Amino acid sequence: CTCCSESFIRSDHPIVADILLDKISLDYSETLMAAAGEQAEAAKHDTMKKYHGEYILCVEGSIPLGDDGNYCCIAGKTALEQFKEAAEGAKAIIAWGSCASNGCVQAAHPNPTEATPIHKIVKNKPIIRVPGCPPIGEVMAGVIVHVVAFGRLPELDRMNRPKAFYAKRVHDSCYRRAYYDAGLFAENFDYENAKKGYCLYKVGCKGPMTYNSCGTIKWNNGVSYPIQSGHGCFGCSEDNFWDNGPIYERLTNLPGFGIEATADNVGKAVAGALAVGIGAHVVASAISKRKQVSRRINRGRENEERL
Ligand code: SF4
Repeated sequence: CTCCSESFIRSDHPIVADILLDKISLDYSETLMAAAGEQAEAAKHDTMKKYHGEYILCVEGSIPLGDDGNYCCIAGKTALEQFKEAAEGAKAIIAWGSCASNGCVQAAHPNPTEATPIHKIVKNKPIIRVPGCPPIGEVMAGVIVHVVAFGRLPELDRMNRPKAFYAKRVHDSCYRRAYYDAGLFAENFDYENAKKGYCLYKVGCKGPMTYNSCGTIKWNNGVSYPIQSGHGCFGCSEDNFWDNGPIYERLTNLPGFGIEATADNVGKAVAGALAVGIGAHVVASAISKRKQVSRRINRGRENEERL
């Protein structure tokens, strides 16, 4: 869908014009290059030949393996052939976006085209996975600049994602986190307090199990990100995210995230008596943030009364 390229060209730090004009030579990109057709193919082949073993290959999109790969053909070759050919001479490979990193929507069940992330196809090269639908432009730019500036890959986590951008959960930097800790949850998207900053966990936010920098770097030069715009996190940078459960329902059996038993209790407790029935994690958080939380709870009560 080209959304990864669209995101990349919106990077402001570093600004993408500096990267393209000063830092790298962008020799082939179906979306961003001026050439098309045979000219574009010629540029690609010249680059792969001249810089064999030296170029960085950024792959956008998953590779369909079904029906001999015929679901995606470029210049008379399947995407699988194109990818293997380009990967052979690459110094490093970057899987740009969730399609290349984990298959994304094309690989969602029942995956009729057998869409496959690239690390399952080429296994003898370092592959940096930069998931997200799309990834944040500054993250994409930052990974490229790191490889170019230092001549080596950035430090990666166990899923080969750059730690600099994927070490923390969206939940950890969320500005609604104080409401989560206080047990103040939006019950639906029409809920007035959703606009005031109430936590979106009950309407499906996957921030507690999603590793990404959305809450800190944000989008469009730091203007906003989905949770700030009133929509819960999709979990788009996690493996199999389209098959990880319903988008608008909270998940009940999350490994390592055992708050479900308290989420409902917390909601009831806040609506009734604050001191009764609050789960242990809420109590612990409320102690350290008592003043801040009580101010917000009072504001929430006022809002509920107004409603
Ligand atoms: S559950 Fe979602 S909205 Fe609530 S604090 Fe965590 S990331 Fe933010």
